Amino acid sequence: MTSTERPFTTTDAGVPVASDEHSLSVGPDGPLLLQDHYLIEQMANFNRERIPERQPHAKGGGAFGSFQVTADVSAWTRAAVFSPGEQADVLARFSTVAGERGSPDTWRDPRGFALKFYTRDGNLDLVGNNTPVFFIRDPMKFQHFIRSQKRRQDNNLRDHDMQWDFWSLSPESAHQVTWLMGDRGIPRTWRHMNGYGSHTYMWINAAGERFWVKYHFVTDQGIETFTQDEADQMAAVDTDYHQRDLFEHIRDGQFPTWTLKVQVMPFEEAKTYRFNPFDLTKVWPHGDYPLHEVGRLTLNRNVTDYHTEIEQAAFEPNNVVPGTGLSPDKMLLARGFSYSDAHRARLGVNYKQIPVNSAKVETHAYSKDGAMRVKNVPDPVYAPNSYGGPVADPARTDDGGTWASDGEMVRAAATLHAEDDDFGQAGTLVREVMDEAARERLVTNIVGHLLNGVTEPILARAFDYWSQVDKDLGAKVEAGVRAKQDETDPKQAEQGNPARSSMQRKA
Ligand code: NDP
Repeated sequence: MTSTERPFTTTDAGVPVASDEHSLSVGPDGPLLLQDHYLIEQMANFNRERIPERQPHAKGGGAFGSFQVTADVSAWTRAAVFSPGEQADVLARFSTVAGERGSPDTWRDPRGFALKFYTRDGNLDLVGNNTPVFFIRDPMKFQHFIRSQKRRQDNNLRDHDMQWDFWSLSPESAHQVTWLMGDRGIPRTWRHMNGYGSHTYMWINAAGERFWVKYHFVTDQGIETFTQDEADQMAAVDTDYHQRDLFEHIRDGQFPTWTLKVQVMPFEEAKTYRFNPFDLTKVWPHGDYPLHEVGRLTLNRNVTDYHTEIEQAAFEPNNVVPGTGLSPDKMLLARGFSYSDAHRARLGVNYKQIPVNSAKVETHAYSKDGAMRVKNVPDPVYAPNSYGGPVADPARTDDGGTWASDGEMVRAAATLHAEDDDFGQAGTLVREVMDEAARERLVTNIVGHLLNGVTEPILARAFDYWSQVDKDLGAKVEAGVRAKQDETDPKQAEQGNPARSSMQRKA
């Protein structure tokens, strides 16, 4: 394109502007003029470019792609998006959890794995992570958990003491923290990690039969991870490594793919299953519920405007389409409110009209007005009405999935099933999934993390926490921390550290 073929600059109102480089002044050295509205528009717009970052999951990136169904799962769901041969457009966003927008991609942290399927029945959002479990199981603790992972109030620093204080007082975190401190705690790239819906969701088939499902997006690139040292080095060299990797691979035609598989539990089995199937700190072992293939997710188109397509992307778990639904997982139910509320706070009440969030089907909602509404609303604006307005059709919905519930209003932990405890599945991960080398790296990662500012009595509680995950692991963590402490403070070691470990006291 030659310079004469280039488009001419305009104001936001489309009016041609006189200069990209010079403001209007009284003589070349004179004062500036208020009527230079283009200069004022540029300055005013610039001052307003940033919107509040997400709290949490602020640092992230993503791409567009498609989802192709490759199997027949119609026995379990009537969802159009999962019906044989169906293809749907998809938006994916990956993120770290605790870091701010400029923070390094390679910090040890779970990764967000959020998907929006633009389906024939409206948008389906699966707002998952790269881990199948989470740190807590009751939403009352979520705000506190995130605060403990972010920054202190006094020095504005992240603080491992605060993190381990929360974790060691919240034993239900053990499974997720074990996963996090293990190899998968730092994915090599977003392409080399799995995505999990994490929560249990519902599927409903054409006959109205209900099933509980867990979504697994298994990376076709294979799992690859960074060691702590590799991640630290990368954080120093390229804070945006994961974003860059995804963008460049898609730009170069090397499209990453994931195979969607589901675990399916018959509705009635939930009551008697050995683990509470709605507890977000637990997986369903594959031996109990094997994976069934559904389809393939491919990311093949980079965004053209990070702000409008990623920063303003709004995912929410309550976007469920007919044939899919929620479950009694308290974390999931609370996220239905909190995500849409976060979007209203960040983007305004009409955030679903931002193109990236808009359904690709016609909408017939009774919402109207509000800040930044851009879509015209026809009369009538109320229901019921006699003037041809939309009419709800229950036959088209599954009402987000339903189940029976009864009882007093209580504040209590969910019902324990036969094998429920806080440490069992974490112990299985350590003993039966990790090999000896992975266990050693786990010990090294935990010891390094604890030595970074964790104080007594939290340190002692952390040793106890790991002993409950696995006795041998706990002993190694304690020995590793104490040995390093003795190295750095030999005098205290000679005098006898008053906060000596329970291991040594017991010995
Ligand atoms: P399986 O042996 O059938 O599956 C073990 C799972 O662990 C596989 O999905 C594997 O992923 C994953 N895995 C391998 N290495 C690690 C690691 N370092 N950190 C985290 N996950 C890893 O066992 P079960 O299904 O009986 O589960 C045993 C334990 O495995 C669970 O307690 C849980 O901690 C963990 N796990 C289970 C998952 C599940 O949904 N059942 C999912 C992920 C972890 P892959 O082979 O796909 O790469």
